[in-house]
Amino acid sequence: MSNADHARVPTIDRHDGPGASPAIVPATHRSAGGSTSARTFRQGEFDVTVFSDGHMIVPAAFIAQDAPADQREEVIERSGAPSPNVLPAANVPVLRRGTELILFDLGDGGRFQPTEGKLLGALRDERIDPREVTQVVLTHAHPDHLWGLRNVAGELNFPNADYVIGQTEWDFWTAPDVASRLPEAFRGVVPQTQSDLAAIAHRVRLLKDGDEVAAGISAVATPGHTPGHLSFAVAGGDGLFITADALTHELISVEHPAWQNGFDYQSDVAIATRQRLLDRLTHDRMAVLAFHFPFPGLGRIERAGSGYRYTAAR
Ligand SMILES: [Zn+2]
Repeated sequence: MSNADHARVPTIDRHDGPGASPAIVPATHRSAGGSTSARTFRQGEFDVTVFSDGHMIVPAAFIAQDAPADQREEVIERSGAPSPNVLPAANVPVLRRGTELILFDLGDGGRFQPTEGKLLGALRDERIDPREVTQVVLTHAHPDHLWGLRNVAGELNFPNADYVIGQTEWDFWTAPDVASRLPEAFRGVVPQTQSDLAAIAHRVRLLKDGDEVAAGISAVATPGHTPGHLSFAVAGGDGLFITADALTHELISVEHPAWQNGFDYQSDVAIATRQRLLDRLTHDRMAVLAFHFPFPGLGRIERAGSGYRYTAAR
C-alpha cells in the first residue's frame, strides 16, 4: 500500500536543474539546517562527523498527507520552511575508528534535486579522500541515499569501499518487476537505481536485522519507508541510533507519527515502525542521528504529554 497518489510526488524523476520540477523553488528561504559545515562528536570508539549533502525541497502535503491543514501549516511555520514546502536536510554521517572509515549513505550525486549532491565537496573541505572510505552502509535505496554512488563517468565515487545494504532491500529493488510494484509516480527512479545497484553487485554484503556492520554497529530492521529499510545502532554510552528515514522530519515524524508520508512505500508498516521506534528511543535514552532532520540531525527524542518531541543537541 502506498499513499503516493494522494498528492503529487515532488521531484521523483530525474531533472537537470532549477525549474525542471514545479517543486523546485529558488533558495531564498533560510536553510532548514542553518550552518552546514561538518560537525564532529565522539560516540563510543568512533569519531563521528556529519556532512551535508544539501537539502531537499518537498511539499509538506506530500509527507503529511492526511494532516489537518491548520496543523500542517503550524509545523511548516515552526520548522522555519517556506510554506507550502518543508526543507529536509540531507545529513551523511562518517564514522572513523583507526583505519576504518564508514560512510552511511551517499547523498543523491546531484541527480535527484539540484539542492543536493554536495557530499563530495563537503568531504574535500575536511580533507577526506574518498579512496580512504573502507565501508559504505546503505540504509535503503532511495535516490537521495544511493544516487551519489558514481560520478558522471560511471565510476564509483568510493572505489575502495565495501558496500552493505539490507537483503530485503536488495531483493526488492533488483527484482526485474519492481517498477510494477511501485506507484506510477515512483517508477522513473528504477533504471538509475538498478544501474547503481548492479555496479556494486560483485562487492556488496547483504544484511539482516541484527547483523553487525562492524564491531559496535548493528543493523535494526525499520521497514515501511522501503521494504528493507535499515537503521543502525552504534554502541557507546546510552547508544546512538542512526535512524535514516524511519523518521524523516523532526516535527512531522516525531510529533505526528501517524500522519501518512507519501515517500513511505508501505504506510501502515512505516507508521507502526515509527511508533515502536519513538518508544524505544525514549525508553533507552539513545541519541538519534537522523538523515533529514535539521543539520547535523543529532539530538534526542523525549516524551511530551501523550506524545514525543525532538530536541537537537547543542
Ligand atoms: Zn531520504
